Amino acid sequence: MSFEYHEPTTLSEAIDLLARYGKTARLLAGGTDLMVLVSRNKVDLAHLISLDSVPGLSGIRQDERGNLVLGSMTTHREIETSPLMAGAGSALPQACRTVGGVQVRNLGTIGGNLCNASPAADTAPVLLAIDADVTLQGPEGSRNLPLNQFLLGPRKTALGPGEILTSITIPRFSNPTATLFLKAGRRKAMEISLCSVAARLTLGEDGTADVRVGLGSVAPKAIRAVRAESVLQGQVPTLELIREAGATAATECTPISDVRGSAEYRQMLVESLVTRALSLCLDQLRNKGQATRVS
Ligand SMILES: Cc1cc2nc3c(=O)[nH]c(=O)nc-3n(C[C@H](O)[C@H](O)[C@H](O)COP(=O)(O)OP(=O)(O)OC[C@H]3O[C@@H](n4cnc5c(N)ncnc54)[C@H](O)[C@@H]3O)c2cc1C
Repeated sequence: MSFEYHEPTTLSEAIDLLARYGKTARLLAGGTDLMVLVSRNKVDLAHLISLDSVPGLSGIRQDERGNLVLGSMTTHREIETSPLMAGAGSALPQACRTVGGVQVRNLGTIGGNLCNASPAADTAPVLLAIDADVTLQGPEGSRNLPLNQFLLGPRKTALGPGEILTSITIPRFSNPTATLFLKAGRRKAMEISLCSVAARLTLGEDGTADVRVGLGSVAPKAIRAVRAESVLQGQVPTLELIREAGATAATECTPISDVRGSAEYRQMLVESLVTRALSLCLDQLRNKGQATRVS
């Protein structure tokens, strides 16, 4: 396959190139998804636009409100090793740590993971569970979207013509919060998930719960298990309610059977992993008795 390689040095130049070449162009971040497709001739490509020399797209910072802002070119390895990701954001480094091997994590970016829009993308369930927003910049300017409105289906996102994902924002939680990511595969490393679960539990001053549950690999895109969340939402969490939330999550996912596992097995995994993730979050909060915060 032959294509023209572009290395813009500003965001507006990258947007112009993307808008000019339309569907014949692809953005290149770490290339760990895209170059596999290119090498297999599975993508129609005339223009490859690298984001490598565009300033301001990498790194993790705290904004003036205490939210965490992750540049779309931030690698899994940077997230995995950043001290800023301790506390309630810790499910994200947990997820990044399970992506491929170290070589893949040194190149692969969080933006590429989301824009590739695989139902098995490991960061997506976590970012849904911690209410992340994405920022897109394109020929018409900038816009923010909650992640569940960005992910539309397998390989489909809300990116419009000429738009680039520039950052992901994780809100600061003011009450004690715990998060956890669990992933099941056929082996323990270098594995695309059979099922992944992210849980976020925030306890109010009266002990009642604000809950999110994100699921990966068990629907056409990463989803929130909203009926499972509502079992616990506003309640003082107990193990009985947590078990009920786990069982409910299994009824609202829509897994397929494939070479990696049957739909029935994936539903069993959802029930067990959601129950385990929420129980561990509750343990973390009760045992520590103190706020674990994103920031
Ligand atoms: C051996 C191996 C193991 C892997 N294991 C896992 C795993 O366990 N879990 C997992 O989730 N993934 C896994 N992956 C997939 C991949 O590493 C991740 O999805 C990674 O985060 C992709 O990021 P990237 O920067 O390499 O994206 P790229 O390949 O550069 O891009 C992916 C897609 O997103 C688009 N894109 C990238 N950045 C932007 C942006 N800022 N704005 C708009 N569009 C953009 C590109 O045009 C392309 O279509 C694995 C890959 C390999 C090769």
